[in-house]
Amino acid sequence: MTRSLSSGVEAALWSLLTAFGYFLLASLSLYATKGADNIAAVWPPSGYFLALLLLMPARAQFASFAGMAAASFAANMLAGTPPLPAAGFTLANACEAFVALWLIRRRHTGELSFMVPRSVGDFCIATLSASALSASIATGLAGTGIDFFFSWLTTVGLGMLIVTPPIVMLARMIDTKALDNMSARMKTEAVLILTAAAAVTATAFSQSHFPVTFLPCIAVVAAAYRLGPFGAATGMLIVTIIASLLTGQGVGPIAAIADSQKVKVLFLQFYLVALLFTTLPLAALLVVQRRLARRLEQSNRWLIQAEAAALVGHWRVDLVDWTIQWSDQTYRVHGLEPGTPVDVDYSVQQYVDEDAVAVRRVLAEAVRTGQAFEYQGRIRRTDGEIRHVKSHGSIEMNRAGKAVGIFGTVQDVTETVENARILEAARSAAERVANTDMLTGLPNRRHTLAFLEKALVGARENGAPLAVAIFDIDHFKRINDAHGHAVGDAVIRRVAQRAKAVLRDCDMVGRIGGEEFVCVLQRSSAQAAEIVAERVRKAVEAGTAKEKALPNATISIGLALYAGEPDAEELLHRADQALYSAKRDGRNRLRMAA
Ligand code: GH3
Ligand code: MG
Ligand code: MG
Repeated sequence: MTRSLSSGVEAALWSLLTAFGYFLLASLSLYATKGADNIAAVWPPSGYFLALLLLMPARAQFASFAGMAAASFAANMLAGTPPLPAAGFTLANACEAFVALWLIRRRHTGELSFMVPRSVGDFCIATLSASALSASIATGLAGTGIDFFFSWLTTVGLGMLIVTPPIVMLARMIDTKALDNMSARMKTEAVLILTAAAAVTATAFSQSHFPVTFLPCIAVVAAAYRLGPFGAATGMLIVTIIASLLTGQGVGPIAAIADSQKVKVLFLQFYLVALLFTTLPLAALLVVQRRLARRLEQSNRWLIQAEAAALVGHWRVDLVDWTIQWSDQTYRVHGLEPGTPVDVDYSVQQYVDEDAVAVRRVLAEAVRTGQAFEYQGRIRRTDGEIRHVKSHGSIEMNRAGKAVGIFGTVQDVTETVENARILEAARSAAERVANTDMLTGLPNRRHTLAFLEKALVGARENGAPLAVAIFDIDHFKRINDAHGHAVGDAVIRRVAQRAKAVLRDCDMVGRIGGEEFVCVLQRSSAQAAEIVAERVRKAVEAGTAKEKALPNATISIGLALYAGEPDAEELLHRADQALYSAKRDGRNRLRMAA
């Protein structure tokens, strides 16, 4: 109940607003053109009504049409139009408003924005189509000719094109509180510009000595530039009101044209159309451009923030004029103040010499092939610090397929490189520990056997001879017993050092047990292996003898030549057998496996 009452009240209010404004504007227009052959240049009531229809809720539209019809009929009658034509003109205007609204709503279900060029275009098409319809109805009902049709079309069309936008925009600005949020400086500027437009138009149209009809154009363009679509639309409305009123009263440069009233009105209309179609699209395009500029600025800010956060800079080499551009982050990576002038050669020279050569090669190759590229190198900053940087990039081609630019990113990867280096050092240290016998520093059992296994595979593949020797300290238990475990350890160490000292670079010796060692003698014939093993035996014997602080020690050696054994274990077993023979035969000697 409350709802239907309130919507009823709402409809009544819109209807009253329509009727009152329509009657006032229609009467004023008819009055202003009276005595000038009753030809109006612009019919503002049409624009006013369309603006209200666009602003009001759909449920109030029916009542508003009724209000408009009453106001239109009354105004026409009051101006002396007979009832039948007055009703006919009213019908034509009502149809035109209905069709314009329908055409606009068909493409814009929401609010129609005069800030978007496409919407402005749609609005123009809708109003001009609706005007053509109402002109046809009015001409048909009045039974007049083509002149009347065109006169009605332009008059009504201009009425909607000029009057609707400023009303709709102003109402929206009030509705969205945009007007309240506007700074005092902007409001003052708007008032000043629009007042200036009014003053300039009044001046230009209140004299007929000079044909300065272009002066208001400058004012409207200025309003469009400073205030956007609202400025353009309001400026246009001001120029229209003043120019039509003064010309209608026979004053001004257009009224002074030495021709019929009809031609003067036509010229005024032509003038207004030209002005309208210059400024409205211009203002809408300006808004688009400003929005784009704002977006671009925003994207740029985000890019700078993203680069700073990710520590990735970008750069671009123009291959045509051989210049380079660096982003702020690229300057920071290079340890330079953003904006410092740099050139292509300087940017490559920042790399340490051998890396600069590689960078030049990678870039030249990328330019030649047009392929994406990637490189890493060390740069020497101006403060002397060396940093590792990594670049990724691509080549920009022109339509002819010629490289015109190189675009790349740059990232300081010093920490990553350092971490990788530390990690690698730790890994190889751990590997060394895992492979080394702590007492002697020789390869431990695991590593020795792995080495032997690999040597065996090598010998099998390339047919080179391979020998393996196992040696064991003689009567070591006695040494331990007589001198203690620590001295025993020292003896083991000394034996290891002596053996290692007399081996060739290609041989290896490892400790595989308490006081047992294995020598892997690669590419050694039986004779050569025997000589080397004998040299080891003698070195141990001689070495310990010379060393007064340590007890004498000798070793027994069992030597086996690789003879196609499937694995290291079997080869070692044969060597072990030979060692056993050496022990049995009196120790401190070498025995060759059968
Ligand atoms: P043989 O001449 O027959 O080899 O007599 P041996 O006394 O040396 O006998 P064997 O090789 O079996 O003796 C190994 C001894 O070495 C047993 C153990 O007490 C001692 N031993 C094993 N590992 C170590 C070690 O790391 N340090 C010390 N000091 N002694 C060890
Ligand atoms: Mg032993
Ligand atoms: Mg022993």
